[in-house]
Amino acid sequence: MPAVDLKTYLAATMRLFRVPEDPDLSRAQFDAFSKQIPLLYFILISNTIAVAYTYVNVAPDWLTMIVPSVLTLIAGLRTFWWLRQRGLVRSDADILRNLRATNWMTLPIGAGFTIWSFALYPYGDPFAKSQVAFYMAVTVIGCIFSLMHLRSAALIVTLIVDVPYVLFFWATGEPTLKAIAVNNLLVSGAMVTVLFIYYRDFADLVASRKSLLTQQAATQALSDENFRLANLDSLTELPNRRRFFAELSSAFTEAERRHVRVAVGIIDLDGFKPINDNYGHSVGDRVLIEAGRRVREVCEGFGPQRVEFARLGGDEFGLVVCGDPEDADLMRLGQRIGEQVKLPYQLDTAHTGLSCSIGFALYPRSATTSEALYECADYALYHAKRHLRGRTVIFSSELEAEIRSRGVIENLLRTSDFGAEMELVFQPIVDAMSEHTAGFETLARWHSPRLGWVSPADFIPAAERIGLIRPLTQVLLTRALATAKTWPDHIRLSFNLSAHDVCAAEGILPLIAIIEKSGLPPHRIDFEITETAVTFDFVRAQQSIATLKAMGCGISLDDFGTGYSSLSHVHRLPLDKIKVDRSFVADINENPVSHKIIKSLAGLCDDMEIACVVEGVETRAQLDTLRRLGCDFIQGYYFAKPMPGSAIDEYLAKERERLDGDAARAAKVVA
Ligand code: C2E
Ligand code: CA
Ligand code: CA
Repeated sequence: MPAVDLKTYLAATMRLFRVPEDPDLSRAQFDAFSKQIPLLYFILISNTIAVAYTYVNVAPDWLTMIVPSVLTLIAGLRTFWWLRQRGLVRSDADILRNLRATNWMTLPIGAGFTIWSFALYPYGDPFAKSQVAFYMAVTVIGCIFSLMHLRSAALIVTLIVDVPYVLFFWATGEPTLKAIAVNNLLVSGAMVTVLFIYYRDFADLVASRKSLLTQQAATQALSDENFRLANLDSLTELPNRRRFFAELSSAFTEAERRHVRVAVGIIDLDGFKPINDNYGHSVGDRVLIEAGRRVREVCEGFGPQRVEFARLGGDEFGLVVCGDPEDADLMRLGQRIGEQVKLPYQLDTAHTGLSCSIGFALYPRSATTSEALYECADYALYHAKRHLRGRTVIFSSELEAEIRSRGVIENLLRTSDFGAEMELVFQPIVDAMSEHTAGFETLARWHSPRLGWVSPADFIPAAERIGLIRPLTQVLLTRALATAKTWPDHIRLSFNLSAHDVCAAEGILPLIAIIEKSGLPPHRIDFEITETAVTFDFVRAQQSIATLKAMGCGISLDDFGTGYSSLSHVHRLPLDKIKVDRSFVADINENPVSHKIIKSLAGLCDDMEIACVVEGVETRAQLDTLRRLGCDFIQGYYFAKPMPGSAIDEYLAKERERLDGDAARAAKVVA
């Protein structure tokens, strides 16, 4: 046999006696051992005691008492050690080390028992001698069985006991004992064969279980990943809407069970749309990501309540505040979020001026289901956006009353007779320099038999919500045109259109038919459209505006500065007038910001050759400032409150008188 072959052969043989390095196999072996080894020692000890007992009167004490006691003590300690292993969690290295120790421990223990047996043997009579032979044969079979899971240990025991055994009993020359020796040799051979087969199957089983587990783990990882993606917003990598509602419903159930408070919050970014419109979507996306990151940081650092945060879509985010929050906690959270969102954004273009409005609703105060709670938060947000932009609003009993009254208005509006209950009033729009009335804006009034006078600020949005705005607009426009036909030719009519009028699928054909039927020349009509209406559906709004424009009507952009203050609309629409919102006028002489805004808007209108109309002028001082700033038209209580159509003739006559008188006085002064 060549040297190399011999070496590999030897190495392979040595490997048979070593514990292989396979963490999963070792773990399985260790598990099996912790159950079987105590059994092994039980066989060993009980058999040993039986033999010692037979020899107790014939052999010396040290052989029948001391040695068995020491061997039993060792066996007992090992049993105890193994019994303690059952519940313990061990590392792979630890397990391998222990198995190796056990493996090699079989050598001295096996040798010890074998030597002890042979030492006793000479003291016995033939019966006692055959008990030793029996003891050794049976015990070794029991041990091999118990050590099946660790082949190396079973082999060591077989060798250390059976080789001396066969040699020893063969050497006695006694035919019965020789027969036992041969017998044991054959049985051991068979046992070793069974051991090899069993051990191979066991190792295979462990390996296949491992691959099954790996497969399961891979499937689990994949499904975890799918779950993660299905619950993640792809842009901001925040939890998404689906996750938010799952979180909300579980937090709600938990709060119900524990009788504690839970809150829902909805955040809406103020001024996000113009960023998207003016700087493009990629800048918009970056702002969303950054704003999301900042709010997440606030939520993660917030305490003692736990805050879940998600992106609901667009520029809307959701919060679930668990852990019995109070109003003060919600306000504190809202304020921190607001502060973070307001900080400047690193854009190459410009300062964004972003802020956010937040609506909260608290269980159990405001709702009994999670859906209703969300609705309340949504209403609180709506309220914040309308009246307290950039602030936090918690849903309250006042808001609840407001919702109820909204519901009442909607219901009464459904059954109202527009022809009988709706009226129009008219407010002059005056040329800033000449102070001549240039036209009248029509404003709707509803006299409800149940509620009395209802403000258009309440019933127009209600009509929009319940889908009645378009028939209402048609009734109002028909009336407004009829009234305007009675006015002098140079007086224009301004008429408000809602988003639903300009963005309707069938376009504004019904309105065009009404204009044509009225006989009032279209060039005497201005349609007022809010920025919000335009942003609602820009393409449709643009088409409607183009059609009206083509007929000869004028277009005014209403409430300018309150909506998304997006200048892009001014550039992209064929506008004739911009109406600056009255909120800027109120403090024009006190607040430098308002002054600046109106100044720059007037400048913008001048550049673009669009007329600038300023609403809500109530004092002479405001008028003087606006004149200086170059505003073209003025509307407001300073000149007149909205009046019924029947009052217009008299109003115009008085104005003529006043202006004629002024002109005469001026002529006198000049003369
Ligand atoms: P708007 O189009 O901005 O109308 C101007 C509002 O400001 C009117 O309120 C008017 O009465 C008020 N106003 C005028 N001058 C002054 C002033 O000097 N000081 C103050 N504090 N207020 C002044 P109104 O009539 O309550 O209308 C509210 C809103 O309802 C209107 O705002 C408009 O958006 C909507 N609206 C009114 N009539 C109609 C309509 O026929 N159709 C549509 N779609 N909307 C309408
Ligand atoms: Ca208006
Ligand atoms: Ca307005």
